[in-house]
Amino acid sequence: MSFGSQPTRNVGPSEFNKRAFLLWRVLPTILIALAVSGAAFLLLEWSAREADRLSLERQRRLFSLAVMDMTENIAHQQESVTVWDDSVLHLQEEPRDQEWLDANMGSWLYSYFGIDASYLLDPDDRAIFASEQGRLLTPEVFAGVAAAVLPRVDRLRAVLRRDDPADVPDRMDSAGVTDLAMVRGHPAIVSAKPVVSDTGDIVQTPGEQYVHVAVRYLDGSFLAEVQERYLFNDLQFDADVANAPGALQLYPLFDGSDATLGYFTWRPVLPGAGVSRRILPALAVLCMLAFAGLGLFLWLLWRRSVALGATEARMHYMALHDALTGLPNRAMFVERVESALTRSAAGRGGTALLYIDLDHFKQVNDTLGHPAGDQLIQEAGRRLQGLTRDTDTVARVGGDEFAIVMTGVTEQAHVERLCDRIGDSARIPFDIEGNQIFMGMSIGYAMAGADGPGLNELVRRADVALYRAKSLGRSRHVVYEKDMDALLQERRRTEADLRIALREGGQLQVCYQPIYAARNGALTGFEALLRWQHPELGPISPEVFIPIAEETGLIEPLGAWVMREACTAAGGWPDLVISVNVSAIELRDPDYAGRLADLLRETGLAPERLELELTESTMIEAPGAHMQNLRSLRGMGVRLVIDDFGTGFSCLGRLQSLEVDRIKIDRSFIHALGRSSSDEAIVRAIIDLAHATILETTAEGVETEEQRARIRALGCDSLQGFLFSEALSHRDADALVAAGTRGAGPEPGATDSRAAREADNLAGPG
Ligand code: GH3
Ligand code: MG
Repeated sequence: MSFGSQPTRNVGPSEFNKRAFLLWRVLPTILIALAVSGAAFLLLEWSAREADRLSLERQRRLFSLAVMDMTENIAHQQESVTVWDDSVLHLQEEPRDQEWLDANMGSWLYSYFGIDASYLLDPDDRAIFASEQGRLLTPEVFAGVAAAVLPRVDRLRAVLRRDDPADVPDRMDSAGVTDLAMVRGHPAIVSAKPVVSDTGDIVQTPGEQYVHVAVRYLDGSFLAEVQERYLFNDLQFDADVANAPGALQLYPLFDGSDATLGYFTWRPVLPGAGVSRRILPALAVLCMLAFAGLGLFLWLLWRRSVALGATEARMHYMALHDALTGLPNRAMFVERVESALTRSAAGRGGTALLYIDLDHFKQVNDTLGHPAGDQLIQEAGRRLQGLTRDTDTVARVGGDEFAIVMTGVTEQAHVERLCDRIGDSARIPFDIEGNQIFMGMSIGYAMAGADGPGLNELVRRADVALYRAKSLGRSRHVVYEKDMDALLQERRRTEADLRIALREGGQLQVCYQPIYAARNGALTGFEALLRWQHPELGPISPEVFIPIAEETGLIEPLGAWVMREACTAAGGWPDLVISVNVSAIELRDPDYAGRLADLLRETGLAPERLELELTESTMIEAPGAHMQNLRSLRGMGVRLVIDDFGTGFSCLGRLQSLEVDRIKIDRSFIHALGRSSSDEAIVRAIIDLAHATILETTAEGVETEEQRARIRALGCDSLQGFLFSEALSHRDADALVAAGTRGAGPEPGATDSRAAREADNLAGPG
């Protein structure tokens, strides 16, 4: 098993990070949205201002054109009466016809063109006619306007004196001076024109002409006219700019010498402001909608992220945990071992790695179904977790395989204690779907200190130790030792040697361990036990070579040989029962029962005197040739015994339904008698149940007087163990039978318990 290529997971906490979401999703989105909407508002404001600025510029130009236009118009309107032979003639008349002058050059100009005042000056600039607001006045009123008018008239006369046709502008018939000036405290257009002949028939001295002066006040009807014609709002004239209200537009008015006469003001048309006013609410609504949309989007994103975070957390959990038991899985186990090894390397205590595998677990699946197997795995996981410290890690690393990582281990004794606790716990039956199931556990463990070994080697060592525990007969714990590495080679060698032993004979021997009646100590029979004396290695335990024989198919010739030896031996004994272990693999052969019947006939052994010892799982294996064999054998009268009851896989609840005659209570329970009250209770339950269903019981492995006394008190029928006798050779068994110990009660036989244990370890197949 190697984890070298296994990627080390380093998945951080994968829950949804709210802070990060707010910081990296919500905040930037809000900032961008604010920036975009701010930019939109600024753009709108800027375009509105720009539109207003252009509009104001236009309005000023328009106003300026309007004033120029009006000024030019006055000169044109004047020429309708000043360039006219009749006017020249009427002015040369003495006395002058004031009424004619007024009708044609005074009130006429006023009523048709709105010219507020008209004055006529003779060549010496004396006023000879005055009309104001359409009313004929005495020429003396001219004195009130002379200061504003005469400088312009002087300029006109200077032009006239030059008599240069270039001084007559295009579209005009005469020269003229038009100017802006303050007249009677009001801004006005003052236009001076000579009165000249339109036909050219009347010749006058240049500069000596009569001059007509037209005055048009700009703050009177002029304003109304400009306002109407050019659509200015609230057009007014104000001499003092300080009085102009802020929102109004100003247009300064200068006279010919650039002196400020005052200001026109109007309420400007501001299309930008209007458009902005109209667009602003729509833009605000749009922005709000966009914000609402963004909010919704963020909210959905938030929900999705929360869900995603949860899924991620779940996936992270699932990636590191076993779905069935909820325990850490292999990936997390590797992480834990690595960090434990890092601690150990730093001198913070050793690391122990325990591999725990359920014994014969497959049979639970086969007999009770997969769901029951699942429940058992779950319960086993719970028990293991209940036995460990918080700092230890219990992981499920395979189908029925668990691992425990212990950190900060200072003494191996700590690990041993945990192994003992696991062993004790495994002896308590598992209650699965109402069935009391015995499920042994095998443990292999290895330790690491400050200088190693590393992950892969530690795992390999624990695995090797587990393998060793399995091959030593299961339901035990084994610590890794260096020489175990040779185990695999040893196994291969064992297989080869076993073939030779079978072929050549001499090394294999069947021994017979006496079984006594508990009630009166009478010898009731023997259990045939196979021994292998290897020429080089010495005695080899059946627990080592039987599994190899089962795996390689050698079990069939081996089993047949043992059966023949045992039946032959028993054939020579009167009325004694012979128990022979049979492997489930042998029973799969459809001819097994037939061959055994032939053997019984051949050896003359009554079928009732033969007991076949099978594991419980063998009894309840799936129907087939196997079941058929068991049924025919029982039909013949052969008795069936469940061996090692209570270890590996055993089911108390099924006892009643099994077609067997006897059960053998496993030695581990017998050894626990007097030490563990729970074990004693289990043994009592097994015996009571067996008796209730008319099954006989045998206790195997009885080694002490105390055990004998207790097991007898519990009502067990037969006893077997070193307290009475070890397994004997065929010859010694014959001698025992001949000696007729029957009725003498089971007397303690072997007394050297160490030697006895060694021999016991060689106990027969199954
Ligand atoms: P051994 O004493 O040598 O361990 O024999 P075993 O029968 O326990 O065999 P082994 O440990 O090699 O095999 C374990 C079996 O567990 C193999 C498979 O059928 C079964 N298994 C694996 N995973 C699951 C599971 O999730 N649920 C159940 N019910 N059975 C499982
Ligand atoms: Mg197993």
